[in-house]
Order: sequence, then C-alpha cells, then structure tokens
Amino acid sequence: MSTLLTRLDELRDKAFGELKNLTSATDLEAFRVKYLGRKGAITGVLRELGSIEPEQRANVGAEANKLKNELTSAFEKHQESLKSKSIPDSKVDLTLPGRSRFLGKKHPISRTIDDIIDIFYSLGFSVAEGPDVETEWYNFDALNTPDDHPARDLADTFYIKDNILLRTHTSPVQIRTMENNKPPVRIIAPGRCYRKDTPDASHAPNFFQTEGLYVDKDVTFSDLKGVINIFARRLFGPEIKVRFRPHFFPFTEPSAEYDFSCLICKGDGCRACKHTGWVEISGAGMVDPAVFEAVGYDPEKYTGYAFGMGVDRITMLRYGIADIRYLYDNDLRVLRGI
Ligand SMILES: [Zn+2]
Repeated sequence: MSTLLTRLDELRDKAFGELKNLTSATDLEAFRVKYLGRKGAITGVLRELGSIEPEQRANVGAEANKLKNELTSAFEKHQESLKSKSIPDSKVDLTLPGRSRFLGKKHPISRTIDDIIDIFYSLGFSVAEGPDVETEWYNFDALNTPDDHPARDLADTFYIKDNILLRTHTSPVQIRTMENNKPPVRIIAPGRCYRKDTPDASHAPNFFQTEGLYVDKDVTFSDLKGVINIFARRLFGPEIKVRFRPHFFPFTEPSAEYDFSCLICKGDGCRACKHTGWVEISGAGMVDPAVFEAVGYDPEKYTGYAFGMGVDRITMLRYGIADIRYLYDNDLRVLRGI
C-alpha cells in the first residue's frame, strides 16, 4: 500500500477525532487551516502525488479528494451545531428584552414657557429677560406702586438689603426694555419670581410668570383682549373661553383680571376651579401714563397694553395637576408622569 494512502488514513482518524472535541470559533479556524487550508495536511498529500508511481496517482488523488470532501462537510456540520448550541448554552438570554432607561425630558414648566414663547413669537413678540435680583425702583417705583402699597411690605417680599430685593413679578423687565428701546415695543418676559408665600396647594415662594407688553400708537384694550383670546385658543384649543373682570393695578389703567374657563369640568364647576367654572390666570390692562413718564415715553403719543400670566397655573391647568408643590418637590415619580 502506498505510504500516501496510509498517511490519508491516519489523517482521517486524527482529523475526525479532533473535530468532535472542538468548541470555540478559534479552535474551528485553527482546525480548518491545519487540515483543509491551502497549506493544510490534505493539500500537502496532493502536492506529493508527483513523487509516486503514475499508476497510483489517480487512486491516491481520488482518496485525498474524498477525504477533503468528507472532512469539509463534517466540519461545516459541526460548525453549525456549535452555533445553534451557543445560545442556550450561554448564561445570557439574548432573547430577553433590554432594560429600558428613563429618558430625561423638559420640566413641565419649561415646556409651558417654550409653548408660550412659540405662540407669542408667531404674533410678532420677541423675548426679553431681566435680573432676578432687582432694585425697588424697577420692581415698584417705576411701576407706579405707592410707598404704602402692601406688596412692598417686608412680610410679602424677600429683601436682600435696603432697596434690593428678589423681584416679585416680571414687570421690571418691561421698564428695562422701555428704557432701552423706543416704541414700538412688543415683548414677552418669561421668568422666575419670588414672594413670601407659605407653600400650599396653589402658592409657592418661587414661581414663574410671563409678562407681555405692547406699546405703539393707537393700541387699544380690544387689541389686548384679542391677543389673550388667540393665545388661550392656541394653547388650550378652540373650546376655551376667556373672561375679563375689572380690577386695580397701579401700573395699568384701566385694569382687569382675566380667567380661562376650567378645562377639567368644562365650566360646570369642580374642585380645581373652586366650583366657579373659571381659573384665574393673571392681570392685564392699558399701561398707566405714569409708567410711560417714568421711562420717558410721551403718554400723549403712545398707548400700550400689558398683561401677566401665571406659568405655574397654566401648567397645572394643562396637565391636570392639583397641587403646585408637585412642580417643585422634584419627585421624579410625579414629574415622569407629566
Ligand atoms: Zn372646574
């Protein structure tokens, strides 16, 4: 018998013996290179055909190719079975759904401010900002607030030192804007405000307002009503109703408070609207001529309206939140749901 045929027999025994013990992809590749590769053992036998008797070549060549085919198919089968086994054998169940992470999102108050800005921006308003720490002049005097007005009281306002305080509303931004710009002025001023309120379901010592101001020639109260109505419908939908009630503010004349119809009970009355069917939003009115004089505008030439809105209250109305403290407690279980 040809020594090459003997070598092929030995190779067959050895290769099949090794193959069944292979478990890793690395071992499989090493095996393939060793026996089936271009420089592998079987190719090695074929290369030596030239050195044997011509009449034996065909037989040995056929045997070598037969072994190569058998080994190749056995190798592929083993490779497949390892692949299908690897999942159940693994400690990790790849079919389990992943554990989802909570994606951060904007605070409901920030979302409301963004939407308020979008609506007024589309109506031609730009955004103005001012400092949280203000002087008494900007927070009260320039806004025509008398010296004995209760809002100036130490019990109601956070004073930092004489004449310096945390702003109690965003109205100082109106004064700062008018001081630095000639009419026409059309701005909204969103921001944080501070009052010495004891926290309860509807009060927090820090809260958010957005102030609006439009000064030009021939601005009227009906322009104000129109803009508030458009705003309410854009934010809450066409069913919302707006009402104005006469009121007094030192910085506007005439002045009004305005309410939105309660979206929770649709005006029938519920706990959220104290059974009135209406939710108070804030105040509005025509800018008092004394305010124009304080900033150097000619009250004979210009008129204007100003309005405020409680961002917290609007946020509570939008998302059906019963207690303002939910917005400030930073309890993620609550905030995630809003
Ligand atoms: Zn209601």
